[in-house]
Amino acid sequence: MPGYSIITAGDIKYISFDCLAATGMVNHAFTTRLGGVSRGPYHSLNLAFHVGDSPGAVLENRRRACRAVGAGLEDLVCGQQVHGDRVHVVTEVHRGMGARSYAGGIPETDALVTGRPGLLLASFYADCVPVIILDPVRRAAGLVHAGWKGTLLRIAEAALKTMGRAFGSRPGDCLAAIAPAVGPCCYEIDRPVVDAMTERGFDPARYVRPAGPGRWRLDLPGLNRDILVGAGLDLRNISVAGLCTSCSPDLFFSYRGQSGRCGRMASLIVLR
Ligand SMILES: [Zn+2]
Repeated sequence: MPGYSIITAGDIKYISFDCLAATGMVNHAFTTRLGGVSRGPYHSLNLAFHVGDSPGAVLENRRRACRAVGAGLEDLVCGQQVHGDRVHVVTEVHRGMGARSYAGGIPETDALVTGRPGLLLASFYADCVPVIILDPVRRAAGLVHAGWKGTLLRIAEAALKTMGRAFGSRPGDCLAAIAPAVGPCCYEIDRPVVDAMTERGFDPARYVRPAGPGRWRLDLPGLNRDILVGAGLDLRNISVAGLCTSCSPDLFFSYRGQSGRCGRMASLIVLR
C-alpha cells in the first residue's frame, strides 16, 4: 500500500498521505511540478526563489500552493536550507518569514517544527528526502529536509528530539511520511559517501548496491525510514511514497535528472 493520493486542487496537483489526512488535524501537501506559471527548467510549479526563476512566478506559484492547503502566503514559514541538522521551533513571531524571499527565511535550518495552529511550514526539494512528522497526541508537526549530509547527521531524529523537548512529543505516538525523493534506482554515490556512512555508524551493506567501478546506489528514503524507527517510531506509522523524483520528470523536479538546473517541490503542513 503506497498510502498516498494525488489530489487536484485548482490548477495544481499534489501528494497527500492517507495517514496524515485521516487524523483531521492538519492540512498538508507534497507538491508536484504541475499547475504553476514558471517556464523553462522551472516549468511549472517551482516554489523556491533561490534557483534562478522569476520571483513573480514563484510568488504566484506559492499563492496557489498555499491556497491548496487552506492557508495564505502571509502564513508561510520557510528556512534557509543548508544540509545541516539544525531544527527550528516555529512560533507566531516567525509567521511570514521567507514567504516572499529566500533571504527572509529562518537562517541555516533544515527542519521546522511547530505546535501552533495556522502556521504553514514549508521546505523545498529536488531529490533530497522530505520527511513529514505529525504528533497527533500533543498536536505538533514538523518538516525535515534530508539530503545525504543531513541524513547521516540524523536530522529526522533531531527533529523528533526537539519535538519532545518543545511539545512533550513521544516518538511512539508520532506519524511520519516520506515523500518522493531520488530512489535507490537512481541515486549514485561515490566512495566518500560510503565512508561517511560507516563513520556515522551506519552499515552501508544495508543501503547501497554496486553500480560500477567506484560507484554505488544508495537508498536514502530507506535510510531515513530506519532512522525514524531507531528514534522510536512504529514502522506501521511510517508511510513511504516510494516514488523516485529522477524517474518521473513529468511529475517532479530532479536536481540529478535535470543536471542541477530545475525548480523545487515543497512539503507543506499546517495544524488546524
Ligand atoms: Zn529512479
